[in-house]
Amino acid sequence: MKITNLETAWFEWPLSIKIGAMPKFKVTGSIVKVFSDNNKVGIAGTHFVNSDNALIAHIERWKKFVVNQNPFEVQKIWRDLYNNVNRILLGISHAISVIDCAIWDLIGKEVNRPVYKILGAFRNKIPAYASLPWWVNPRQLEAYFKGILDQGFKGVKVRIGKNLEWDIKVLEKARELGGKNFHIMADVNSGYNFRKALKIARVCERLDLDWLEEPIPSDNLDNLMELRKKVDIPIAGGENDAFIWRFREILEKRAYDIIQPDVTRSGGITEVKKIASLAESFGIECIPHIFGFGPIQYANLQLIGTLPNCRWMEYSYIPAEFLMTDKIEIDKEGNAILPSNPGLGFNFNEEILNKYKK
Ligand SMILES: [Mg+2]
Repeated sequence: MKITNLETAWFEWPLSIKIGAMPKFKVTGSIVKVFSDNNKVGIAGTHFVNSDNALIAHIERWKKFVVNQNPFEVQKIWRDLYNNVNRILLGISHAISVIDCAIWDLIGKEVNRPVYKILGAFRNKIPAYASLPWWVNPRQLEAYFKGILDQGFKGVKVRIGKNLEWDIKVLEKARELGGKNFHIMADVNSGYNFRKALKIARVCERLDLDWLEEPIPSDNLDNLMELRKKVDIPIAGGENDAFIWRFREILEKRAYDIIQPDVTRSGGITEVKKIASLAESFGIECIPHIFGFGPIQYANLQLIGTLPNCRWMEYSYIPAEFLMTDKIEIDKEGNAILPSNPGLGFNFNEEILNKYKK
């Protein structure tokens, strides 16, 4: 038996209600129909929320994980869906975050100052590390390192998590190319279980890395805490977590040595500023996750300009930026310079944006 199609829709009743702290809203509901190749239809509906259209958009995009699957393998389908939403159910938090960042840009433009100077500047530049794309192999690393060292970067982050043998080759090559004092970080992107994470953490210890990032998913904070107890290498993570309540739990459990919220997904500049201050009270560093295109880098850099408990900027070392007319300046020592333009500090390349906008 195979699922052949999935349809979704939402409906709105001519009736408004008020629940708790939510603003008054129309009674709505979202429904899903799943069709099979033997002409059966599975149907279900969910609660009214203020974000039905967001739910529908999510469901539409997840259709690809459902269609052509065997409905009896429902646990596999569930796992595919869950992994696709970055685990801690981001999506809605992205929406709050991007609205918040755009408002800060507006405030900055109104008072003609970069956001970090409005919030209270701590620095005007910060060391940037080159964050490499996924699974650059040892041979490709040589070419990458040439550019990175020429540009003055003092640190690099490599992606691992393919398998232990491959990981070790990449990490050893990175240490060989960078030399003894070069800063190296490794990111597993939640790809391992506890046992594998422990093994790779010991390799990272041996090679004296700065941190090991997301060795296991942050769904299980107890496992992260256990891992931290067993190894000396600092464990970093938090790019898939959002809002101060979640980070309070992470900090109270001592799940990470370094937290990495992202202002464009963890709740906006307003929220991540609070999260960073909370981390400071625990003596924990906050080094925002940034890997992504320019607007993401600029927004996070503005917050970094205000954080005493941050010592790096993640600089996405990816092919030419195309979304913006601006570029973050990296000086000869590998520092990112805080932009002096008002607001977040960048302008979109409207022509390119309009061409690719959907
Ligand atoms: Mg990461």
